[in-house]
Amino acid sequence: MEKVKKRYDELVALIKKYNYYYYTLDKPLVDDATYDELMKELIHIEEQYPDFVRDDSPTKTVGAVIQTSFNEVRHDPPMLSLNNAMDEADMNDFHERCAKLLGTFDIEYCAELKYDGLAVELVYENGIYIQGSTRGDGEVGEDVSENIATIKKVPARLQGNVPEYISVRGEVIMRHGEFERLNEQRRQNGEPEFANPRNAAAGSLRQLDPSVTAQRELDIILYGIGKMEPAGKVHTQSQLYELFSQLGLPAPHYYTVGELQDVKAFYTHWMENRYTLDFDIDGVVVKINRFDVRDTMGSTSKAPRWAIAWKFPAREAITVLKSVDYQVGRTGLITPVANLEPINIGGVIVKRATLHNFQEVKRLDIKIGDVVKVIRAGDVIPKVVEVLRDKRHDVKEIVTPQRCPACNSVLQHEDIYIRCVNPSCPAKEYETLCFFVSKDGMDIEYAGPELLKRLYEQKKIKTIADIYALTREDLLQVERMGDKIVDKIIDSINQRREVSLSQFLRSLGIRNVGDHIAKVIARHVRSLDKLQELSPQELMRIPEVGPGVAQSVYDYFHDEESLKIIKTMLSNGVVVKDEVVEEASENPFKGKTVVFTGTLKSMSRQEAENLIESLGGKASSSVSKKTDFVVAGTEAGSKLEKAQTLNVRILSEEEFLKMVGRE
Ligand code: NAD
Repeated sequence: MEKVKKRYDELVALIKKYNYYYYTLDKPLVDDATYDELMKELIHIEEQYPDFVRDDSPTKTVGAVIQTSFNEVRHDPPMLSLNNAMDEADMNDFHERCAKLLGTFDIEYCAELKYDGLAVELVYENGIYIQGSTRGDGEVGEDVSENIATIKKVPARLQGNVPEYISVRGEVIMRHGEFERLNEQRRQNGEPEFANPRNAAAGSLRQLDPSVTAQRELDIILYGIGKMEPAGKVHTQSQLYELFSQLGLPAPHYYTVGELQDVKAFYTHWMENRYTLDFDIDGVVVKINRFDVRDTMGSTSKAPRWAIAWKFPAREAITVLKSVDYQVGRTGLITPVANLEPINIGGVIVKRATLHNFQEVKRLDIKIGDVVKVIRAGDVIPKVVEVLRDKRHDVKEIVTPQRCPACNSVLQHEDIYIRCVNPSCPAKEYETLCFFVSKDGMDIEYAGPELLKRLYEQKKIKTIADIYALTREDLLQVERMGDKIVDKIIDSINQRREVSLSQFLRSLGIRNVGDHIAKVIARHVRSLDKLQELSPQELMRIPEVGPGVAQSVYDYFHDEESLKIIKTMLSNGVVVKDEVVEEASENPFKGKTVVFTGTLKSMSRQEAENLIESLGGKASSSVSKKTDFVVAGTEAGSKLEKAQTLNVRILSEEEFLKMVGRE
């Protein structure tokens, strides 16, 4: 019970923080799918333990309290949020709730697209636009009148028979083309890109200088009403849209009025066809059509009882395969990569997905032009999981390449894999460079893939050894490189001239040798000289080293090219220090296998894993029966569930810190 309360408070604090970054700063810290999962967990706890519910719980509030220099605008009536239905069962529950309240299952709904943008209110007096504001916390929003006036579809003056007063509500969105253009411009200016069109729309609208908003092409769709005087003859949602059209206000193009079955058909249609739209939707909104019925149902402090947002699955989407690229990895492995019609999956725009290998292409029976289902789980690269065969028409075969797309040499087939075996293939050389400087390799800060690409193309570097011969002049010749950044790059290269054997070994990109095996080997052999002398049989005597690892390490250190690279590196000032191994004193993690999941507050995942290894334990990435402990941080996912089913001991971050003596 105490544990649940602790988790409850933790969730409230975390969601509040995410709300602030999302609503106030327009810079989300996590994607929407992750956010929605936390919110679901919070709702679940509140249902189980009603006594815990705090007045300031995010389940009771709308958006975030605004803290900006815009003037305040009070919304009357308040602008509410919507309750969510995550699947068909939730939708059926909503229908039943409505039926119970109304005493009949014969309910007329209006189903509309759920535009993924920023909610706003527009006020017209005697047909003249007088004010525009954001939703804010629902009660009080920000006055962005001038900014909203720059949106072409917002009429300065209404047409026809205008009411004395009308406040209308809707969503400001950014279409995909404009989003791409804006991000391209920001890339060129060295500014951070927007994560998705919603954030771009919100960031563009909430500019203190309206002329900046005017330079961004925003769009608006209106779907609701605040107040109208005199009240007029609007009694249903569909009549409201007729009124909007008469007044010249931008109303939705797509909606349907009907019973539950029609709502379900509308939902399915748009889930399968949303890729055809050039803007983001994240579900459909289902509203009771008649206003008098709405009045009898009322609202909670957060959302109306007469409407629900039926969201699309957070981690998957349906889109179209436009073409396939063949990517050459650092070991020469060719991976087919799908280029997709861009689609927003849980708050992240997905344009590419892996098809893994050519056997997978065959298994999926996938062709260019196919309608496909794509999933995105956590930080994993999106993947195509299914082809919607009944939607197939006009498709083209995906051909298995016979030659390397980068160097044109004939590719080698090794059971399900296709590989480029040309040692001087430019794609392999470039990928090797990228891996070497990455966090999993030498971790050379500021030397990213883009810089390496330019240096490689300008023939300033070819192998990893050349990185250590780079001069300030070489870097300054690269386009858009200033003194400051050049100093930082040189500095970080210098910081990685003296490295431990294990770090050196893991950075070389030897097949089958990752961080853990590199450490195991380094701790065993201690020095680079010794390592180079070992035969495959001797390497296999090292615990955890199998024949595959032994052979690749042996081959690497007996390949003329690799030896030349190592020699050049050493003559360019690299010092490989002998591995220092301190016998770990007795502690609860010595000899144990530990898996980390979720985010730790006190240290990064890498630091925690290093800590375990320094204590004589083994940090592993997957949970199995052999796992001794799983340390669960916030947002722990499937690994935690697996640990629970396998009965593996689970530690909270606090327990873990206590056990390592770092309370
Ligand atoms: P919501 O977006 O789930 O639904 C309510 C909103 O939908 C309304 O306020 C309105 O703006 C909009 N809407 C779009 N089309 C509509 C239509 N046809 N009719 C009526 N309303 C329509 O709720 P919210 O409170 O605005 O935001 C919550 C969502 O925002 C979360 O589910 C999450 O996905 C996202 N979020 C993400 C983070 C993050 O850190 N990534 C943080 C906070 C919120």
